[in-house]
Amino acid sequence: MTNQNIPVTRSSMPPLNEFVEEIRDLWDSRWLTNYGEKHSRLAEALRDLMDAENLVLFTNGHQALEAAFQQFPKGSEVITSPFTYASTTQAIVRCGLIPVFCDIEPDYYTLDPGKLKPLVTGKTVAIAAIHVYGNICRHDSLSAIANKYHLKLIYDAAHTFGMRYLGKSVAALGDMSMFSFHATKVFHTFEGGCLVCKRKEDAEAAKDWSRFGMKGQENAEIVGTNAKMTEIQAAMGLCNLNHLDHELSLRKRAVERYREHFEGIRGIYLCPPQQDVVSNYAYFPVRFHPEQFGKSRDDVKHQLEKEGISARKYFSPLTSEFSAYRGLFPIQKTPIAEEISEEILCLPLYADLSEGEVDRICGVVLQDK
Ligand SMILES: *Cc1c(COP(=O)(O)O)cnc(C)c1O
Repeated sequence: MTNQNIPVTRSSMPPLNEFVEEIRDLWDSRWLTNYGEKHSRLAEALRDLMDAENLVLFTNGHQALEAAFQQFPKGSEVITSPFTYASTTQAIVRCGLIPVFCDIEPDYYTLDPGKLKPLVTGKTVAIAAIHVYGNICRHDSLSAIANKYHLKLIYDAAHTFGMRYLGKSVAALGDMSMFSFHATKVFHTFEGGCLVCKRKEDAEAAKDWSRFGMKGQENAEIVGTNAKMTEIQAAMGLCNLNHLDHELSLRKRAVERYREHFEGIRGIYLCPPQQDVVSNYAYFPVRFHPEQFGKSRDDVKHQLEKEGISARKYFSPLTSEFSAYRGLFPIQKTPIAEEISEEILCLPLYADLSEGEVDRICGVVLQDK
């Protein structure tokens, strides 16, 4: 029992019979995709939960990001952070846009508004900021810059499902926000995602794009793709929504246990809880300062692996270091992001991670200390 393997993440599952009951009527209706009953019920439930009128469901979160970026003329520039998952930067590049990398803040790892202005050029059309690990970006500053230079403010909010900021849903921030419902996320539909837009026209364009650019039955007004959410995905979402509050409370308990072990340990940096933010406890990122802690991030990762515990170098390397981008566009230096990506490690976190397992993980991290 004590030496069972611990994965870094584990998908939450509703009771099987609940899911079976939810999908039973699909065998009668045979309406499997194209905006069926499950799709509209899930969209409605999410609109309520996120106070988001203009919400479009997608087959995955990445497609929702591409739906946001496809609106811009090819060759335009988007200022973004390289401290993110591949998806953010890949969506920008796949839409024919040029990512311009801006450094991040050392405390919450989000885009540093103080470093952004010099990167704005006549070709800049948007800021693509990421609420990494559920740390909310400095929205007021980003929004002021976006307004001043007439840029769209787009959030990769993949990590912030269900979160609230200053009493409001995080989906209310910016012009558009993308949420991921991937199997490893706090809330999932196997794969899936959504785009929340401030303006109705933007949501309509995103939806048209996701169904081959078609407006009605016959004509395509824009170049589009196929990125619709299916009924079986939506059914999983409907089931998982019933258990969301319980999931979040279990995750919270695990995070609090981690914090008890690590708070005050020299060489360990944990992001402090943000003011006015209701968290979803999606990730537990820890920074190990090699000199002060006496072990590097990679040392800790290897020690954990030897004990059957998985941890993830999330995000290392930076997306700006991907070989796919070499020679495609200039790569800006982002020294703080570089340093953090060398030191960061995401420890296991999921709803049914027990307190005993957290104790075991922390024991390994802190051994020979
Ligand atoms: C998961 C994730 C995505 C992509 O979402 P998918 O639903 O897997 O396509 C994008 N950005 C970030 C930061 C993510 O963590």
